[in-house]
Amino acid sequence: MSNLRYDILTGNTVIISENRAKRPFDINLDKNHLATCPFCPGNEENTPPHLFSKGTPWTIRVVPNKYPALNNELSENQAGIFSSENITGSHYVIIDSDKHYNYLHCMEPEEIVSLICTYSWVMKELYKEETIKYVQIFKNYKKEGGSSLEHSHSQAVSLSFIPKQIQTQLDNAEGYYKENNTCLFCKMLQMEKEANTRIIMESDDYIAFAPYASLLPYEFSIYPKSHSSNFSNMTNAQHISLSILIKKLLFKLYEVLNNPAYNLYINSINTEKGSFHWNIRIVPRISIQAGFELSTGVILNSISPEKTKAILS
Ligand SMILES: [Zn+2]
Ligand SMILES: [Zn+2]
Repeated sequence: MSNLRYDILTGNTVIISENRAKRPFDINLDKNHLATCPFCPGNEENTPPHLFSKGTPWTIRVVPNKYPALNNELSENQAGIFSSENITGSHYVIIDSDKHYNYLHCMEPEEIVSLICTYSWVMKELYKEETIKYVQIFKNYKKEGGSSLEHSHSQAVSLSFIPKQIQTQLDNAEGYYKENNTCLFCKMLQMEKEANTRIIMESDDYIAFAPYASLLPYEFSIYPKSHSSNFSNMTNAQHISLSILIKKLLFKLYEVLNNPAYNLYINSINTEKGSFHWNIRIVPRISIQAGFELSTGVILNSISPEKTKAILS
């Protein structure tokens, strides 16, 4: 059976059409230090000097990306249909751990707490630059998730503009807020709780569920139960609560889906606003978008979010 769903926030259209899922392959977890890895301890000279380093010897490092997607050099504008504009920004790598294969699902909750605190610190630091309008912190896990290096790492990109996809979400959330005088996300959490058909896991402070119009198989979101727009405003107790939930969710993903590639990203803004509610999205990469998706913008998802709940909870 197929079902067409709309996402009120993003405007995305998805066809939920269940058929088969592919299984990803595993990687070698035997060794935790590689002499040839630029992110392993002892090879610090292979990365640019760090912006931040935690502990002695270090357990987390934040370094400029050697191959940045952005730099602060301006290019020439073009006019007419090939218009362009100058943008600036920066691109950092967060080396999650001093251990090569210490991926999120393997980490102790305290290690995840340190990493989340680092994400929070990096986000705050990057927003201090006056020209910066948006900061994205994300993680690509495994090659199929877009990762080019095996060592557990995350990335932070700052931009002098708000990407259109983000702006659309902010506008839709603002529109809903103005019309209903309530946060669209808080309302969505309330409805998800009432329905309880897509909630995967929850703790005192956070709730993880498969979004109603999930674009890709097994994707899920984590939201704070109390309204907050800024990821960097979490308390220490919330860092711990979130870390325990992330550990449980990612370990479940590892076990049930046989260690899939995934993308993890944080949707947050730099202020507190009634209309926006920060969240983390985790998207396993076990399917690819093909001709139909590229040509129509309508996504075919072979695993319903209700099935995701059944499998991951
Ligand atoms: Zn390494
Ligand atoms: Zn809210």
